[in-house]
Amino acid sequence: MAADWLVCANCAGRVSEGRCATCRAQLARQRERGPWEALTGPAGLLALVLALAAIALVVARPA
Ligand SMILES: [Zn+2]
Repeated sequence: MAADWLVCANCAGRVSEGRCATCRAQLARQRERGPWEALTGPAGLLALVLALAAIALVVARPA
């Protein structure tokens, strides 16, 4: 269920196998928040909204 495709940078195994402490910590975090919230947390969403607002301002400006 939780991101089976993720490969650990520490032990080069699948994170879902939980071979090292880094894998297990990542697995614990995914169980808490879900795999996608790890990628798009509050900071990521805020940056996305700011980028869209900036684009909207540039597009809406008269030439
Ligand atoms: Zn690992």
